[in-house]
Formats: sequence, structure tokens, C-alpha cells
Amino acid sequence: MPEAILWRESGISLRWEVLQDLLTAYHFQVQLRGEVFRDLTEEASQRIARRMAEIRLVSSDKEVLNPNPFPVEIAYEKRQMMAEVKKPGPVYSGFDFLALLRDFIPAKERSLRDYLHIVLTVKRLATWGDDRWHLRTILFSIPVVISLTGLVEAPARDRDYYILKQADPALGDRWLEAHKSDWLDYEDDRTTDVVQGYLYQAIFWWRNPSEFEFCKNPECPLYNSHWQKEMLRAQRQARPCPLHSPLP
Ligand SMILES: [Zn+2]
Repeated sequence: MPEAILWRESGISLRWEVLQDLLTAYHFQVQLRGEVFRDLTEEASQRIARRMAEIRLVSSDKEVLNPNPFPVEIAYEKRQMMAEVKKPGPVYSGFDFLALLRDFIPAKERSLRDYLHIVLTVKRLATWGDDRWHLRTILFSIPVVISLTGLVEAPARDRDYYILKQADPALGDRWLEAHKSDWLDYEDDRTTDVVQGYLYQAIFWWRNPSEFEFCKNPECPLYNSHWQKEMLRAQRQARPCPLHSPLP
């Protein structure tokens, strides 16, 4: 039986039993774990802190990262590693972050056939494309990484919001207040349901990584949402569409 290992940054609180049940329904043996970066030697934590500082973005439209970080940036990363509750902090290059995580996944658990590793983080993760960085909700690899901050910030809110906000920030705030059901907030009660939708994506990706495709049905959790409204509709569906059901 394959194992699904759900790694959680400290401070993240979700309804874990819901996520665990979903993975169990897909015949995984499930393990909940804490941080990937844990029980570290001084040397290892220094190395991670330096690498994290190196892979932060310096500009949203320059692909180059931060190869010579300032000591204060490295010190920030070190404090974050120790923190009980993490801050989203700067934006990081998602695939570089993922590669660093992978280095700390036990070597015997790196086979994609036997293990589905999923890391939940509050870090802001972006990927480069079309001459700019794009914030991401989920990245598929070993491990799959889901950014809770990305759920709030990566899919766009309605155009009206941006138009109003640009005219006057107070109008933007008023829009947010009046349309709470249309966008996900930080620490939102609906976060677990949305994460569940992304777990479906992780599971279907894991089954056939080279041929994984998003679903065209906007009411399927495998739909590739670009807007908050779409995400709150698609990813919160309790079950995939008929094409992606029933259970294996
Ligand atoms: Zn579907």
C-alpha cells in the first residue's frame, strides 16, 4: 500500500482528520508529520537559512534571485525556522524551495511509486513564466507543495476589486467586506475544504505524473482555477466530477 505523508509547518491548523480521510479513501496509508526541516544540526540549519535567503525574489519581473544575501536576510530565515508560527514573508522561487525540501526527505522515502509527499506551508511561492513571477497555490513534484498563503493571494479576486482598490484603497476594502463569499481570507474556515480540492489534484498527479491534466469541469476539484470564485467553487467540491469518479 502506498504511503501519503502530510508534512505540516508548525502553526498551521486545519481539520486534519478530513484530509486524512480523503487520502485513506484513495487507499493510502497516511502519516501526519511536522516540519520537513526538523532535528537539524547547526550546520544544516545554517545551510537551509542561507539557501532560503538565496531563493527569495528580488523583483517580480526579474528572473534572477538573491545569490548574495545579506546577513540580516539569513538571520531572518533562521528565526523563521525556529518560530512556532511562521510568517509568509517574502516570495520564494517555488521549485528551488521544493528542491531544498526534497533534500531533507529521507532517502528511502523518495520513490514516487511508493510515497506521496505533500508539504503544507504558509510561504509565498512563485514560478517564472512569460517574463514575470507568478504566485502559486500548488506545485507538483517530490514533494507536492501547497501554499496556504498562495490560496489567498494567487487566484485573482474579481476585476471590480482591483479597479476599486486602484481608485481608492478604502473602496477596495469595502468590496472585500461586501463580497466575503467570493474570496478566501487568511485563516478562513473554508481553507480545509479548499486544501481538500488540492489534495485531489496531488493524488491524480501522483497516479500518473507525466500525463496529469487538469479537468475542464469548473465543478471538479481538478479544475485549474485562476480566480478566487473559481477556486471556491471547484476545489470545495466534496467529490470529483463523474469523469474522475468513482474511487479506484
Ligand atoms: Zn473532473
